[in-house]
Amino acid sequence: MSQPAVICRALTKSFNATAAVHAVDLSVPEGQILAILGPSGSGKTTLLRLIAGFEEPDHGEIRINDQPVASAAVFVPPERRRVGMVFQSHALFPHLTVADNVAFGIRDEHDRHQRVAHFLELVGLEKLAARYPHELSGGESQRVALARALAAEPVVVLLDEPFSNLDAELRVRMREEVRLILKETGTTALFVTHDQEEALFMGDRMAVLRAGRLEQEGTPEAVYSNPASRSLAEFLGHAEFIAGVVTDAGLETELGRLAQRVDLPPGSVVEVGFRADDVALAADEAGEAEVLARIFRGGTTLYRVKLPSGKIVHSMQAHTLTLEPGSRVRLWLEPHHPLPCYAEGKALRIHEMAPRRH
Ligand code: ATP
Repeated sequence: MSQPAVICRALTKSFNATAAVHAVDLSVPEGQILAILGPSGSGKTTLLRLIAGFEEPDHGEIRINDQPVASAAVFVPPERRRVGMVFQSHALFPHLTVADNVAFGIRDEHDRHQRVAHFLELVGLEKLAARYPHELSGGESQRVALARALAAEPVVVLLDEPFSNLDAELRVRMREEVRLILKETGTTALFVTHDQEEALFMGDRMAVLRAGRLEQEGTPEAVYSNPASRSLAEFLGHAEFIAGVVTDAGLETELGRLAQRVDLPPGSVVEVGFRADDVALAADEAGEAEVLARIFRGGTTLYRVKLPSGKIVHSMQAHTLTLEPGSRVRLWLEPHHPLPCYAEGKALRIHEMAPRRH
Protein backbone atom coordinates (compact mmCIF):
# COMPACT_ATOMS: atom_id res chain seq x y z
CA MET A 1 0.00 0.00 0.00
CA SER A 2 1.19 3.52 -0.74
CA GLN A 3 2.30 5.83 2.06
CA PRO A 4 -0.45 7.90 3.65
CA ALA A 5 -0.69 11.35 2.03
CA VAL A 6 -0.84 13.03 5.45
CA ILE A 7 0.59 11.84 8.75
CA CYS A 8 0.46 13.68 12.09
CA ARG A 9 2.39 12.26 15.01
CA ALA A 10 1.94 13.47 18.60
CA LEU A 11 0.91 16.84 17.19
CA THR A 12 0.52 19.44 19.95
CA LYS A 13 -0.24 23.16 19.90
CA SER A 14 -1.08 25.32 22.92
CA PHE A 15 -2.29 28.90 23.16
CA ASN A 16 -1.66 30.58 26.51
CA ALA A 17 -0.83 27.27 28.20
CA THR A 18 -4.05 25.63 27.01
CA ALA A 19 -3.63 22.81 24.52
CA ALA A 20 -5.84 23.50 21.48
CA VAL A 21 -4.48 20.32 19.86
CA HIS A 22 -3.03 17.65 22.13
CA ALA A 23 -0.88 14.68 21.05
CA VAL A 24 -2.89 14.04 17.91
CA ASP A 25 -1.92 11.02 15.83
CA LEU A 26 -3.63 10.58 12.50
CA SER A 27 -2.95 9.43 9.00
CA VAL A 28 -4.94 9.85 5.81
CA PRO A 29 -4.28 7.34 3.01
CA GLU A 30 -4.03 8.73 -0.49
CA GLY A 31 -7.44 9.32 -2.09
CA GLN A 32 -9.37 9.01 1.17
CA ILE A 33 -11.50 11.51 3.04
CA LEU A 34 -11.02 11.72 6.80
CA ALA A 35 -13.91 13.53 8.46
CA ILE A 36 -13.08 15.09 11.82
CA LEU A 37 -16.06 15.67 14.06
CA GLY A 38 -15.73 17.92 17.07
CA PRO A 39 -17.73 20.47 19.03
CA SER A 40 -16.94 24.17 18.87
CA GLY A 41 -13.53 24.92 20.37
CA SER A 42 -12.30 21.33 20.14
CA GLY A 43 -9.30 22.31 18.02
CA LYS A 44 -10.54 21.47 14.51
CA THR A 45 -9.42 24.71 12.87
CA THR A 46 -6.12 24.69 14.74
CA LEU A 47 -5.44 21.16 13.49
CA LEU A 48 -6.07 22.22 9.88
CA ARG A 49 -3.99 25.37 10.31
CA LEU A 50 -1.10 23.27 11.60
CA ILE A 51 -1.31 20.97 8.57
CA ALA A 52 -1.58 23.94 6.19
CA GLY A 53 1.41 25.62 7.82
CA PHE A 54 -0.36 28.68 9.27
CA GLU A 55 0.62 27.57 12.79
CA GLU A 56 3.82 25.98 14.06
CA PRO A 57 3.42 22.97 16.34
CA ASP A 58 4.90 22.99 19.85
CA HIS A 59 5.61 19.26 19.56
CA GLY A 60 5.15 16.47 17.10
CA GLU A 61 5.54 16.02 13.42
CA ILE A 62 3.55 16.46 10.21
CA ARG A 63 4.45 14.63 7.01
CA ILE A 64 2.86 15.31 3.63
CA ASN A 65 3.60 12.86 0.83
CA ASP A 66 6.15 11.25 3.12
CA GLN A 67 8.14 14.49 3.49
CA PRO A 68 8.39 16.17 6.89
CA VAL A 69 6.78 19.64 6.67
CA ALA A 70 6.75 20.43 10.39
CA SER A 71 8.87 18.95 13.17
CA ALA A 72 11.44 20.10 15.71
CA ALA A 73 13.92 20.45 12.83
CA VAL A 74 11.77 21.44 9.85
CA PHE A 75 9.17 24.05 8.98
CA VAL A 76 7.95 24.24 5.41
CA PRO A 77 5.91 27.41 4.71
CA PRO A 78 2.29 27.08 3.55
CA GLU A 79 2.93 27.96 -0.09
CA ARG A 80 5.34 25.01 -0.42
CA ARG A 81 3.16 22.36 1.22
CA ARG A 82 0.79 21.64 -1.69
CA VAL A 83 -2.22 21.90 0.56
CA GLY A 84 -5.54 23.28 -0.74
CA MET A 85 -7.98 24.92 1.65
CA VAL A 86 -11.73 25.47 1.51
CA PHE A 87 -13.07 27.56 4.38
CA GLN A 88 -16.54 28.28 5.74
CA SER A 89 -16.40 31.80 4.34
CA HIS A 90 -15.34 31.23 0.78
CA ALA A 91 -12.46 33.70 0.82
CA LEU A 92 -12.56 34.31 -2.94
CA PHE A 93 -10.71 37.31 -4.30
CA PRO A 94 -13.50 39.87 -4.81
CA HIS A 95 -11.74 41.76 -7.62
CA LEU A 96 -11.12 38.60 -9.70
CA THR A 97 -13.63 36.80 -11.91
CA VAL A 98 -14.60 33.21 -11.20
CA ALA A 99 -12.16 32.02 -13.89
CA ASP A 100 -9.32 34.14 -12.50
CA ASN A 101 -10.02 32.93 -8.98
CA VAL A 102 -9.69 29.34 -10.20
CA ALA A 103 -6.59 30.22 -12.26
CA PHE A 104 -4.92 31.77 -9.23
CA GLY A 105 -3.26 28.63 -7.91
CA ILE A 106 -2.20 27.21 -11.28
CA ARG A 107 1.51 27.71 -11.66
CA ASP A 108 2.00 26.21 -15.07
CA GLU A 109 1.17 28.93 -17.63
CA HIS A 110 0.83 26.87 -20.77
CA ASP A 111 -2.31 24.84 -20.06
CA ARG A 112 -3.83 27.28 -17.62
CA HIS A 113 -6.82 28.03 -19.81
CA GLN A 114 -7.80 24.39 -20.31
CA ARG A 115 -7.24 23.62 -16.64
CA VAL A 116 -9.55 26.44 -15.54
CA ALA A 117 -12.20 25.22 -17.99
CA HIS A 118 -11.76 21.66 -16.75
CA PHE A 119 -12.18 22.51 -13.06
CA LEU A 120 -15.09 24.87 -13.69
CA GLU A 121 -16.80 22.09 -15.59
CA LEU A 122 -16.06 19.67 -12.75
CA VAL A 123 -17.98 21.88 -10.32
CA GLY A 124 -20.67 22.72 -12.93
CA LEU A 125 -19.88 26.43 -13.21
CA GLU A 126 -18.50 26.76 -16.73
CA LYS A 127 -21.26 29.28 -17.57
CA LEU A 128 -20.32 31.59 -14.71
CA ALA A 129 -16.63 31.97 -15.58
CA ALA A 130 -16.86 35.73 -16.18
CA ARG A 131 -18.83 36.59 -13.05
CA TYR A 132 -17.41 38.22 -9.93
CA PRO A 133 -17.77 36.70 -6.45
CA HIS A 134 -20.48 39.20 -5.38
CA GLU A 135 -22.64 37.91 -8.25
CA LEU A 136 -22.63 34.32 -6.90
CA SER A 137 -24.87 32.44 -4.48
CA GLY A 138 -23.35 30.81 -1.38
CA GLY A 139 -23.34 27.37 -3.00
CA GLU A 140 -21.75 28.69 -6.20
CA SER A 141 -19.04 30.50 -4.24
CA GLN A 142 -18.25 27.30 -2.38
CA ARG A 143 -17.92 25.44 -5.68
CA VAL A 144 -15.52 28.10 -6.97
CA ALA A 145 -13.48 27.75 -3.78
CA LEU A 146 -13.31 24.00 -4.30
CA ALA A 147 -12.37 24.38 -7.99
CA ARG A 148 -9.63 26.83 -7.01
CA ALA A 149 -8.27 24.44 -4.38
CA LEU A 150 -8.30 21.45 -6.76
CA ALA A 151 -6.84 23.36 -9.73
CA ALA A 152 -3.61 23.89 -7.82
CA GLU A 153 -3.12 20.09 -7.75
CA PRO A 154 -2.71 19.79 -4.03
CA VAL A 155 -1.59 16.62 -2.28
CA VAL A 156 -4.41 17.17 0.20
CA VAL A 157 -7.43 19.45 0.45
CA LEU A 158 -8.46 20.73 3.88
CA LEU A 159 -12.12 21.65 4.23
CA ASP A 160 -13.11 23.66 7.31
CA GLU A 161 -16.89 23.57 7.85
CA PRO A 162 -17.33 24.52 4.18
CA PHE A 163 -21.12 24.35 4.21
CA SER A 164 -21.91 26.02 7.51
CA ASN A 165 -23.03 29.27 5.88
CA LEU A 166 -25.47 27.53 3.57
CA ASP A 167 -29.12 26.81 4.28
CA ALA A 168 -30.12 23.28 5.29
CA GLU A 169 -31.31 22.06 1.90
CA LEU A 170 -28.32 23.41 -0.03
CA ARG A 171 -25.99 21.99 2.59
CA VAL A 172 -27.20 18.48 1.95
CA ARG A 173 -26.95 18.93 -1.84
CA MET A 174 -23.48 20.46 -1.63
CA ARG A 175 -22.15 17.74 0.62
CA GLU A 176 -23.24 15.12 -1.91
CA GLU A 177 -21.73 17.06 -4.81
CA VAL A 178 -18.46 17.79 -3.06
CA ARG A 179 -18.03 14.21 -1.93
CA LEU A 180 -18.60 13.03 -5.48
CA ILE A 181 -16.05 15.49 -6.87
CA LEU A 182 -13.44 14.55 -4.27
CA LYS A 183 -13.96 10.88 -5.05
CA GLU A 184 -13.99 11.35 -8.84
CA THR A 185 -10.72 13.24 -8.68
CA GLY A 186 -9.19 10.79 -6.17
CA THR A 187 -8.45 13.72 -3.86
CA THR A 188 -7.11 13.15 -0.35
CA ALA A 189 -9.05 15.35 2.04
CA LEU A 190 -9.51 16.28 5.68
CA PHE A 191 -12.97 17.57 6.34
CA VAL A 192 -13.82 19.14 9.70
CA THR A 193 -17.31 19.72 10.97
CA HIS A 194 -19.33 19.92 14.18
CA ASP A 195 -22.25 18.27 12.38
CA GLN A 196 -22.42 14.55 13.03
CA GLU A 197 -24.57 13.73 10.03
CA GLU A 198 -22.13 15.58 7.78
CA ALA A 199 -19.13 13.72 9.22
CA LEU A 200 -20.87 10.34 8.85
CA PHE A 201 -21.70 11.11 5.23
CA MET A 202 -18.43 12.72 4.12
CA GLY A 203 -15.82 10.50 5.69
CA ASP A 204 -14.36 7.27 4.36
CA ARG A 205 -13.10 7.28 7.90
CA MET A 206 -14.07 9.50 10.75
CA ALA A 207 -12.31 10.78 13.86
CA VAL A 208 -13.79 12.49 16.90
CA LEU A 209 -11.84 15.42 18.33
CA ARG A 210 -12.75 16.68 21.79
CA ALA A 211 -10.79 19.17 23.86
CA GLY A 212 -7.88 18.87 21.44
CA ARG A 213 -7.65 15.08 21.65
CA LEU A 214 -8.55 12.53 19.00
CA GLU A 215 -10.72 10.19 21.01
CA GLN A 216 -11.71 7.65 18.39
CA GLU A 217 -11.00 6.92 14.75
CA GLY A 218 -12.60 4.38 12.44
CA THR A 219 -15.18 3.91 9.74
CA PRO A 220 -18.25 6.10 10.27
CA GLU A 221 -20.30 2.95 10.91
CA ALA A 222 -17.89 1.67 13.58
CA VAL A 223 -17.60 5.00 15.38
CA TYR A 224 -21.35 5.58 15.28
CA SER A 225 -22.35 2.14 16.49
CA ASN A 226 -19.51 1.53 18.95
CA PRO A 227 -18.38 4.71 20.69
CA ALA A 228 -15.26 4.04 22.74
CA SER A 229 -16.55 5.59 25.96
CA ARG A 230 -19.87 6.40 27.58
CA SER A 231 -19.23 10.11 27.25
CA LEU A 232 -18.44 9.72 23.54
CA ALA A 233 -21.62 7.69 23.19
CA GLU A 234 -23.56 10.59 24.69
CA PHE A 235 -21.81 13.03 22.38
CA LEU A 236 -22.70 10.86 19.38
CA GLY A 237 -26.35 10.72 20.38
CA HIS A 238 -26.55 7.32 22.10
CA ALA A 239 -28.57 9.41 24.45
CA GLU A 240 -30.06 6.58 26.47
CA PHE A 241 -28.56 3.97 28.72
CA ILE A 242 -30.09 1.05 30.58
CA ALA A 243 -28.66 -1.44 33.04
CA GLY A 244 -27.92 -4.90 31.63
CA VAL A 245 -27.20 -7.94 33.77
CA VAL A 246 -24.78 -10.47 32.29
CA THR A 247 -26.32 -13.98 32.03
CA ASP A 248 -25.41 -17.07 30.05
CA ALA A 249 -28.30 -16.30 27.68
CA GLY A 250 -27.34 -12.70 27.01
CA LEU A 251 -27.91 -9.36 28.70
CA GLU A 252 -31.09 -8.99 30.70
CA THR A 253 -32.50 -5.47 30.71
CA GLU A 254 -35.79 -3.86 31.63
CA LEU A 255 -36.34 -3.70 27.87
CA GLY A 256 -35.90 -7.41 27.31
CA ARG A 257 -32.97 -9.73 26.68
CA LEU A 258 -30.21 -8.85 24.23
CA ALA A 259 -28.46 -11.72 22.43
CA GLN A 260 -24.98 -10.40 23.05
CA ARG A 261 -22.14 -11.21 25.42
CA VAL A 262 -19.45 -9.22 27.15
CA ASP A 263 -16.30 -10.56 28.83
CA LEU A 264 -17.62 -10.27 32.38
CA PRO A 265 -18.88 -12.97 34.75
CA PRO A 266 -22.63 -13.68 35.08
CA GLY A 267 -24.28 -11.28 37.48
CA SER A 268 -22.11 -8.31 36.43
CA VAL A 269 -24.02 -5.16 35.58
CA VAL A 270 -23.15 -3.06 32.54
CA GLU A 271 -24.64 0.03 30.96
CA VAL A 272 -26.14 -0.56 27.54
CA GLY A 273 -26.23 2.43 25.19
CA PHE A 274 -29.10 2.73 22.71
CA ARG A 275 -30.99 5.21 20.58
CA ALA A 276 -34.71 5.79 20.27
CA ASP A 277 -34.72 3.94 16.94
CA ASP A 278 -33.49 0.77 18.69
CA VAL A 279 -36.66 0.60 20.79
CA ALA A 280 -39.73 -1.21 19.49
CA LEU A 281 -43.14 -0.33 20.88
CA ALA A 282 -46.62 -1.85 20.69
CA ALA A 283 -49.94 -0.73 22.13
CA ASP A 284 -50.98 -3.21 24.83
CA GLU A 285 -53.77 -2.72 27.35
CA ALA A 286 -51.92 -5.02 29.75
CA GLY A 287 -48.59 -3.31 29.13
CA GLU A 288 -46.81 -1.96 32.18
CA ALA A 289 -45.24 1.02 30.44
CA GLU A 290 -47.08 4.28 29.88
CA VAL A 291 -46.80 6.86 27.09
CA LEU A 292 -45.96 10.24 28.63
CA ALA A 293 -45.67 12.28 25.45
CA ARG A 294 -45.94 12.01 21.70
CA ILE A 295 -43.48 14.22 19.86
CA PHE A 296 -44.43 14.57 16.21
CA ARG A 297 -41.41 15.02 13.97
CA GLY A 298 -42.90 14.80 10.50
CA GLY A 299 -41.82 11.48 9.03
CA THR A 300 -41.43 9.91 12.46
CA THR A 301 -42.93 10.23 15.90
CA LEU A 302 -40.93 10.06 19.09
CA TYR A 303 -42.67 8.56 22.12
CA ARG A 304 -41.53 9.36 25.64
CA VAL A 305 -42.43 6.37 27.78
CA LYS A 306 -42.25 5.55 31.49
CA LEU A 307 -41.14 2.01 32.32
CA PRO A 308 -42.46 0.16 35.41
CA SER A 309 -39.25 1.05 37.27
CA GLY A 310 -39.94 4.74 36.67
CA LYS A 311 -37.13 5.03 34.13
CA ILE A 312 -37.99 7.17 31.12
CA VAL A 313 -36.96 6.10 27.61
CA HIS A 314 -37.78 7.13 24.06
CA SER A 315 -38.99 5.11 21.10
CA MET A 316 -38.95 6.29 17.51
CA GLN A 317 -41.90 5.13 15.45
CA ALA A 318 -43.32 5.67 11.96
CA HIS A 319 -45.69 8.65 11.85
CA THR A 320 -48.52 6.22 11.01
CA LEU A 321 -48.71 5.01 14.63
CA THR A 322 -50.67 7.35 16.85
CA LEU A 323 -50.85 6.75 20.59
CA GLU A 324 -52.06 9.37 23.01
CA PRO A 325 -50.34 10.13 26.30
CA GLY A 326 -51.63 7.76 28.97
CA SER A 327 -51.73 4.76 26.55
CA ARG A 328 -50.37 1.49 27.94
CA VAL A 329 -47.63 -0.03 25.84
CA ARG A 330 -45.01 -2.76 25.69
CA LEU A 331 -41.43 -1.81 24.86
CA TRP A 332 -38.42 -3.90 23.94
CA LEU A 333 -34.99 -3.41 22.46
CA GLU A 334 -34.86 -4.47 18.82
CA PRO A 335 -31.64 -3.00 17.53
CA HIS A 336 -30.75 -5.51 14.75
CA HIS A 337 -27.10 -5.06 15.76
CA PRO A 338 -25.17 -5.44 19.02
CA LEU A 339 -25.48 -2.43 21.28
CA PRO A 340 -22.43 -0.81 22.88
CA CYS A 341 -21.86 -1.71 26.54
CA TYR A 342 -19.93 0.25 29.14
CA ALA A 343 -18.46 -0.49 32.55
CA GLU A 344 -17.03 2.43 34.50
CA GLY A 345 -17.54 4.60 31.44
CA LYS A 346 -15.33 2.48 29.16
CA ALA A 347 -16.51 0.45 26.19
CA LEU A 348 -16.49 -3.32 26.62
CA ARG A 349 -15.75 -5.73 23.85
CA ILE A 350 -19.07 -7.18 22.71
CA HIS A 351 -19.83 -10.49 21.05
CA GLU A 352 -22.95 -11.25 19.12
CA MET A 353 -24.62 -14.52 20.12
CA ALA A 354 -26.03 -16.91 17.53
CA PRO A 355 -29.83 -16.67 17.51
CA ARG A 356 -31.44 -19.54 19.39
CA ARG A 357 -33.10 -22.28 17.42
CA HIS A 358 -36.62 -23.17 18.51
P1 ATP B 1 -15.07 26.15 16.03
O1 ATP B 1 -15.87 24.96 15.58
O2 ATP B 1 -15.82 27.01 17.00
O3 ATP B 1 -14.46 26.92 14.91
P2 ATP B 1 -12.63 24.67 16.55
O4 ATP B 1 -12.91 23.27 16.93
O5 ATP B 1 -12.21 24.94 15.16
O6 ATP B 1 -13.86 25.58 16.94
P3 ATP B 1 -10.22 26.05 17.31
O7 ATP B 1 -10.58 27.29 16.56
O8 ATP B 1 -9.15 25.20 16.76
O9 ATP B 1 -11.52 25.17 17.57
O10 ATP B 1 -9.84 26.47 18.81
C1 ATP B 1 -9.40 25.53 19.77
C2 ATP B 1 -9.06 26.27 21.06
O11 ATP B 1 -7.88 27.08 20.87
C3 ATP B 1 -10.15 27.23 21.53
O12 ATP B 1 -10.18 27.17 22.94
C4 ATP B 1 -9.66 28.59 21.05
O13 ATP B 1 -10.14 29.61 21.88
C5 ATP B 1 -8.16 28.44 21.11
N1 ATP B 1 -7.46 29.24 20.10
C6 ATP B 1 -7.51 29.04 18.77
N2 ATP B 1 -6.72 29.92 18.11
C7 ATP B 1 -6.17 30.72 19.07
C8 ATP B 1 -5.24 31.83 19.05
N3 ATP B 1 -4.73 32.28 17.90
N4 ATP B 1 -4.92 32.38 20.22
C9 ATP B 1 -5.42 31.91 21.39
N5 ATP B 1 -6.27 30.88 21.48
C10 ATP B 1 -6.65 30.29 20.34
